[in-house]
Amino acid sequence: MSDVSLGRSTRPTRPASFLRLLYLAGLAVLFALPALIAIANPFGPTEGCCRYADSSTHTWLDAAGTGGGAAAWEFYFEAAMDYDLAPTDMSEAEVTYHNIGTNYVDVEWYTSSLEPPAIGVAQCILDVPADPTRCNHWHVRFNYPTSSTATQRHHTACHEIGHTVGLDHETSPTSSSCMKSTTSNVTFSSHDTTVHINPKY
Ligand SMILES: [Zn+2]
Ligand SMILES: [Zn+2]
Repeated sequence: MSDVSLGRSTRPTRPASFLRLLYLAGLAVLFALPALIAIANPFGPTEGCCRYADSSTHTWLDAAGTGGGAAAWEFYFEAAMDYDLAPTDMSEAEVTYHNIGTNYVDVEWYTSSLEPPAIGVAQCILDVPADPTRCNHWHVRFNYPTSSTATQRHHTACHEIGHTVGLDHETSPTSSSCMKSTTSNVTFSSHDTTVHINPKY
């Protein structure tokens, strides 16, 4: 009981210090802005991100089966391929093979149990032997949909596909890119497409 009283008696000072903190955080962001813009959107392994795709045709395999919330993800994964990636200079194609000899599907996706707060993970499983800056075979895992909304699933599908073509996290405060983790954006930005994806592929 006495703890509660103490807590109450100190409350009036909290909003003031919280506002001060917010103000300081805002100033920090303003000062950091030029640096953030310079590194807003790294692309490919030479800029510290993920490997590039191995070609301009991005093939994908639905390996989710019938369990684990696959149906909840299928719609959004395909939507991200058709509406986010296909309008770029890349093309996409669903295939039914995992690998034919050394020819692996580019993105194999399935559902899995992920450690919160992760909703999706992209991991390069095999490099292209002759060019380790490119990935031969990606695994994209989506979490069972229990804790994700439809918008989060669309955002996450777009985001993980972005990693599989070499896009890193977008930090620009005004970006409309799904590569910005803290948003619910569901498409690539025109910067993603015209500065990174199209010139590369
Ligand atoms: Zn595989
Ligand atoms: Zn990410």
